Amino acid sequence: RSAAQLRAAHEDCRLADGTRIEVVANLGGEADIPEALARGAEGCGLLRSEFLFLDRVTAPSEDVQHATYQRIADGLQGRPLIIRTLDAGADKQLPYLDLPHEENPALGLRGVRVGLWRPELLRAQFRAILRVRPPGQCRIMLPMIALLEEIRAARALFEEVRQELGHTDPVQLGIMVEVPSAALMATTLAAEADFFSIGSNDLTQYALAMDRVNPLLARQLDGLHPAVLRLIAMTCEGASRHARWVGVCGGIASVPRAAPVLVGLGVTELSATAAAIPAVKALLRGLTREDCVRVAQQALAQDSAEAVHRLLAQTWPEA
Ligand code: PEP
Ligand code: MG
Repeated sequence: RSAAQLRAAHEDCRLADGTRIEVVANLGGEADIPEALARGAEGCGLLRSEFLFLDRVTAPSEDVQHATYQRIADGLQGRPLIIRTLDAGADKQLPYLDLPHEENPALGLRGVRVGLWRPELLRAQFRAILRVRPPGQCRIMLPMIALLEEIRAARALFEEVRQELGHTDPVQLGIMVEVPSAALMATTLAAEADFFSIGSNDLTQYALAMDRVNPLLARQLDGLHPAVLRLIAMTCEGASRHARWVGVCGGIASVPRAAPVLVGLGVTELSATAAAIPAVKALLRGLTREDCVRVAQQALAQDSAEAVHRLLAQTWPEA
C-alpha cells in the first residue's frame, strides 16, 4: 500500500471532485530538497531562511543569500518556492543583531519586527530573493505580522527594492498568519497581502497563551483546538473577500487527518514535512470539497482539542 501511495504522491493533488489543493514541503535548507521531491512535494511552501543566519558572527551578504536561494530554486526544478524572510528573535538569537535583553522575547522584537527595526537586513534579503531567476518562481512571506502598519512598511521597502533593481515581473508578497490579531483582522490585511500562510505553531501558542517550548504544556498545546480552528476559519473568510489564497505551514499541515478540516475551512495549500506528504495527498484524494466542509463544520462545533481528535479518529480510523 505504501509503495502505491508513494507512486501516487508524485501526481499533483486534487480532491475527488477535481478541486486543486497544492501539497508542498517545508524546507530548512538545501539538504532537505531531495527527500521533499522523493515524497512528492509540489514545491516549497516555507523555506525557513534562518539557516543562513545562524552560527555566524556577521549577517550573510546579499550575494551569499542570493547564491543559496538560486541553488534552492534550481533544486526545485521550476516548482514554486516561498521564502520566509528572517524570523529571528525569541528562541532564535543572533549575536550580530544586538537585540536588547527582553523580559518576554516571544512577545518582543521578533519576526518582521526585527526586519523593520534593522531595515538594511530586510532590504538585502528582498534584493537577494528578487535576483533569483526565473523571476516568477519565488514568492516572499513575512513572519509574525500583527499589525497593518507592519505589512505596509515592509511592502514600501519591497517596492523600493523592486524599483532599484528595475524588477517589473509580479512577485507575490504574502504574510504569515500566526498572531491572533492577524486572524481577527484578516479582511483588512488581505487588502495588502497577496496571500496568507497560517503558522499554526505560533498561532496556537498565542491563542492559548502557552509557550510552545515549555514541555509542561506540550500536551495541551494543540493546533486542532477549536479556538485555533475558529481563527483559521476567520483567516479564510477574510482572504476570500479579496480573492487571496490561504495555506498552512505549521505543524498541523503535517497531520493527515487535519488536512480535510483545513481544506474544509478554505485552505488550498498545505506545506508539510516531506514524510507526511504521501499520506496527506492520499486522504484528500478520496474526498470532495463538500466532505471536507462537513467535517470542518463538525470540528468547529467541538468543545476541546481532544474532542476534535476523537471526531477525526472516528471518521478516518485508518489514516
Ligand atoms: C509556525 O509558527 O507555525 C511556523 C510555521 O513558523 P515557525 O515554526 O518557524 O515559527
Ligand atoms: Mg512561527
